[in-house]
Amino acid sequence: MKSSEFFREAKALIPGGVSSPVRAIRPYPFYTREASGSRIRTVDGEELTDCCMAYGPLLLGHSHPEIRAAIEEQLERGWLYGTPTPLEPEFASLLVGDHPGLEMVRFVSSGSEATMAAIRLARGFSEKKEIVKVEGGFHGAHDGVLVQAGSGATTLGIPDSAGVLPEVAARTRQVPYNDLDALDAILSRNTDIAAFILEPVMGNIGPVLPDRDYLAGVREITHAHDVLLIFDEVITGYRVGIGGAQVSYGVRPDITTLGKIIGGGLPIGAFGGRREIMEMVAPAGPVYNAGTFSGNPLSLAAGKAMIEWLHANRGVYRTLEEKTGLIAEAVSGKRCGTMVTLGSMFKFFFRTSPPRNYAEAKECDTAAFRHFWEKMLQQGIFLPPSQFETNFLSAAHSDQDIEAICTAYRACLSG
Ligand SMILES: *Cc1c(COP(=O)(O)O)cnc(C)c1O
Repeated sequence: MKSSEFFREAKALIPGGVSSPVRAIRPYPFYTREASGSRIRTVDGEELTDCCMAYGPLLLGHSHPEIRAAIEEQLERGWLYGTPTPLEPEFASLLVGDHPGLEMVRFVSSGSEATMAAIRLARGFSEKKEIVKVEGGFHGAHDGVLVQAGSGATTLGIPDSAGVLPEVAARTRQVPYNDLDALDAILSRNTDIAAFILEPVMGNIGPVLPDRDYLAGVREITHAHDVLLIFDEVITGYRVGIGGAQVSYGVRPDITTLGKIIGGGLPIGAFGGRREIMEMVAPAGPVYNAGTFSGNPLSLAAGKAMIEWLHANRGVYRTLEEKTGLIAEAVSGKRCGTMVTLGSMFKFFFRTSPPRNYAEAKECDTAAFRHFWEKMLQQGIFLPPSQFETNFLSAAHSDQDIEAICTAYRACLSG
């Protein structure tokens, strides 16, 4: 069967035909038969160079042999126990060792669960009710954060989801990214704010990069107002480097959320922070968090293999940065927009200068993006199908892949 036929069938059975909204490519998405390294092979017989990498988790590429071996080894011994396993303290100690903001950590099954739990924890610890997030920031698909949310919610024009109670949405305040005055003003006006949650680098409309000293300023202001700082590092964790943005920008949050890369491609999430805060989590404390699949051995085995590989191959971050640098160079003369890169993250914005916040990102010419995206696909390059999703490279992208990506960008951008 062809992709178009699978999609026709799926549309009758699954809302919009897809399991997550951003995958709903018009007129129909391609269906993947298999993937390895930097390549996806579709059921239609096409082979594509993947620059989406499952929206972030696959830092080492598809079907990495060492991660596969770790999964196979765990499979031999079963894949779900409902009891603690040695993997939990082993993996927790890796994460705690890499992140200055983590003294304790709790495993969950997705990034959404991690941010949901982190926000509840911040409220439980501080005994305050409201949170502040960044306009266009994306923290998963639960009520309190589907307010001016980025990612698919913005792509589809529904940043404020239906079904979220107005009284819940009202507890989520917004500030523009890269605006310390706005943050200081809102925290000065309102004394009932438990936490400020942000992606240290906005990955779900971007990458949109922090101004110099923005994150340090955020830390100072949240301290001054006694508001907990939550870094949502679900994308940036192990993506911008070992220890995520809190290491690369030298700013220590009170609570950190992780996901994506730390599962090595299997479902995972984690939240952690200072010991006195984490001791509030059940059964140590009164803030409830639980999950049948939390800390499941397959995800932990895959994630641990991923992190151990990164520890043994620290040079990979430099190599990836050089590769996105080459892509940026290839489009440097283009006047229709501008390329932003950070390590293995990159995006061509159809806007004359890099956006600094959500309002500026939304000024991008999305029709031009759409046209460009289709041309890239015809050239065999699969980019995330939205102006508002970051492109990702993996360690599996070869020099030839990069050459092909550069050639395609040059050919597909009009001028
Ligand atoms: C992807 C993402 C999430 C949600 O993670 P899921 O595993 O998709 O639930 C949360 N925060 C950020 C910053 C993300 O990029």
